[in-house]
Amino acid sequence: MALYAELHRHLGGSVVPRVLWRYFQRNRSNLIEHFPGYLDFEDFYTRPRNTLDEYLELHTMVESVQTEATLPYFVYRLMRGAYVFENLAYLELRYTPYLRTPDHLSQSERIEKMSEIVDIVGKASQIGEYPIEMSQILCMHSRLPYEVNRAIVDLAVAHPHYVCAVDLAGGDAHYRDRLDEYVKLYDYARQRGVNTTGHLYETEEGAYPELLPYLMRIGHGIQIPLHYPELLPQLAEQGQCLEVCPTTYLKTGTLDDLQQLKVVFDRCFEAGVDIAICTDNAGLHNVRLPFEYESLLTQDIISFQQLQACQDAAFRHAFAWKYEQRPERILSDILRPEADDDLDLMVGETSTVG
Ligand SMILES: [Zn+2]
Repeated sequence: MALYAELHRHLGGSVVPRVLWRYFQRNRSNLIEHFPGYLDFEDFYTRPRNTLDEYLELHTMVESVQTEATLPYFVYRLMRGAYVFENLAYLELRYTPYLRTPDHLSQSERIEKMSEIVDIVGKASQIGEYPIEMSQILCMHSRLPYEVNRAIVDLAVAHPHYVCAVDLAGGDAHYRDRLDEYVKLYDYARQRGVNTTGHLYETEEGAYPELLPYLMRIGHGIQIPLHYPELLPQLAEQGQCLEVCPTTYLKTGTLDDLQQLKVVFDRCFEAGVDIAICTDNAGLHNVRLPFEYESLLTQDIISFQQLQACQDAAFRHAFAWKYEQRPERILSDILRPEADDDLDLMVGETSTVG
């Protein structure tokens, strides 16, 4: 049995349509009364959008129902689904904690409340029956003021047991005017020992070489191999990994065809830049991680060996995976200690972990 690591998943986009529909039926039926039935809702929720901005609007709908009181409900269902249907052994879940605090409070009260949200998500994710290693990535957001984003970095510093990194989200076309601020925030995060990733080079408007030196991983980054391949050697040297989320690019209108990703994988492999394949918004897309893998394989975008290399890379670049080895190797040592050599032959060919 293979077990996987997911490095790029948003809490807001991780609710599968069926779970959200049930939640609305039970608690907020006014929000779905204009949908004749579930299938109409699913179609609305999962249909492709024209732009990244339009797509991100959908997140606000889910954010509005993910409150202090309901987060345990959603996180429990997400962990259960990830374990049972996706074989995840490791999950980094990202969100903007400020956007889960009550919006009638003042900015400073909302900042204060953020640490409760981190605790709620952390506790809700630790479920004995579904043993996935889970850690949170806190997203700074381009719609939020500097003070809030700085408080998000401070929150990451203060909660290392629940939080493994910070991110920057909100649509990569919107960073330009405040770029100095983001450079400062990332610099501050690195100085405080916080791991970093960031939504960058996702769309053609998202090229900010100024931010690259501060990132340990790059959220998406597909425009680099597509349009700035001269940057790849620098990424390889820095050991920066791209978090590539195939279905997203079709849903946001960033790519027309998944085949365009072949260049992304080929150029990265050639330059020695690691790629972790991720879902971004598995619920919103209704596409789980094993299907992302399978779809890249069946469309001949990557080979089986490349898939295994990407799966290895995901564990290697995971901020909070504490083990030297992939989990199936650990399991195998326990279950079939005498069969070590067989497993080496099975997973060792392209593996650099364990
Ligand atoms: Zn994302």
